[in-house]
Amino acid sequence: MKYKDVVVKRINTLSKSHKFALVSLSLFTCVILIWEPTHSFDAVSTTDSRNEIKLSSDNLQTLADQNSEPVETIFEPDDPDFNAPKDELDKHIDVQDIRHSHTVASGETLGEIFNQYALPMSDMYALLGVNKSAANMRVGADLEWQQNEAGKLIELKIHRNIKDTDIYTWSDDRYTFTQQEEKGEIKPVFLTGRVTSNFYNSARSAGLTPGQIQTLAKQLQWKFDFGKEARKGDKFAVEIDKEFIDGKAISSGEVKAVLYKNGNRDITLLKHTDGHYYDMQGRSLNRAFDRYPTHKRFRISSSFNPYRKHPVTGRTSPHNGTDFAAPVGTSVYATGDGVVVRALHHPLAGNYVVIKHGREYVTRYLHLSKILVKKGQKISMGDKIALSGNTGRSTGPHLHYELIKNGRAVNAMKVPLPQASPIKTSERSHFKQQAKLTIDALREQV
Ligand SMILES: [Zn+2]
Repeated sequence: MKYKDVVVKRINTLSKSHKFALVSLSLFTCVILIWEPTHSFDAVSTTDSRNEIKLSSDNLQTLADQNSEPVETIFEPDDPDFNAPKDELDKHIDVQDIRHSHTVASGETLGEIFNQYALPMSDMYALLGVNKSAANMRVGADLEWQQNEAGKLIELKIHRNIKDTDIYTWSDDRYTFTQQEEKGEIKPVFLTGRVTSNFYNSARSAGLTPGQIQTLAKQLQWKFDFGKEARKGDKFAVEIDKEFIDGKAISSGEVKAVLYKNGNRDITLLKHTDGHYYDMQGRSLNRAFDRYPTHKRFRISSSFNPYRKHPVTGRTSPHNGTDFAAPVGTSVYATGDGVVVRALHHPLAGNYVVIKHGREYVTRYLHLSKILVKKGQKISMGDKIALSGNTGRSTGPHLHYELIKNGRAVNAMKVPLPQASPIKTSERSHFKQQAKLTIDALREQV
């Protein structure tokens, strides 16, 4: 007889109470073997009948991820210490006028999109409660949203196709859902102006909306700096595509083409049928961006997490960046073209560098051992800017890298990054012909 059978037979001969004792003892032994205290605290006092656990910041460090920051360390996206100073145009554009957008990628859920852009999850549940259709989006659908100062989602538009748009709007403390079908006729409208005091005010008096000014400044960010380079006497003409029903405009319209005359210099911008903007030659107006700030792929010791909870206080303590467990001395490279706006030491961030990339993006590189650039220095994508380290508040050598888009921290490992591809070769000659006609028409207006 096998050993196992012998054991089973012996157990069967035992009385009920003996069997129970045997099972209990086995279970207890298993629990003792598996259980292993994860954290031990030094300061445990047992006054009264309850236990009080006092945590020092050293204890909190043991609760945080290794090669990261202690969990209570938050770098706010709008902290002036870590930001680019606002220019003339930034000061005029209200947070609520900034339109954020995203094109749905394959396999992406609404929750993942909210996570990438750190949008409040409570807003997602609230709007799904009003209408569930936002949960089903086709690949390629365009999302557009606006947030208020506090980050609350105040409008979400889902462009399902060229004609149909679902709109969630926040007003009177709740979301409402509407569906808009484009039934009208699209007609071009020309707006012209001349810079008198500053570009923003002149564009507003010409009839452009803050959103249209934002689009224009953003699309031309690498060609022309409206905050600094716009001069008194500059002239401009803008073609806006507006939708009309029975002769009445029902939308503020989209920027279709721009001609801006800065002295003798002509700056042009044209929207193609693919939804992207190009110059007259069909070249992209974007600058490309790298995903990673290092050549080697290091382990991510702490991911971007806008909803992270402090393990002790339970308060939300977002991690606005991505931490790479890079050893001290690893070369750090700029992820895009830009200008260094900060290269300093900070008690929490250690040695850090902040780069402003055009109007839309800012990147931050923290806990560096050595900074290799200076404030005001122009940088190209891939330039070596620093060596990684373990300075400031840090639980081990790592690089904390952050990407800020339109003033909000986003997941640098997930969000689509700008591409700089030109118009498809097959469409280029047709585009150039049309572009010439459009810009000639604008030229007659200024
Ligand atoms: Zn970090």
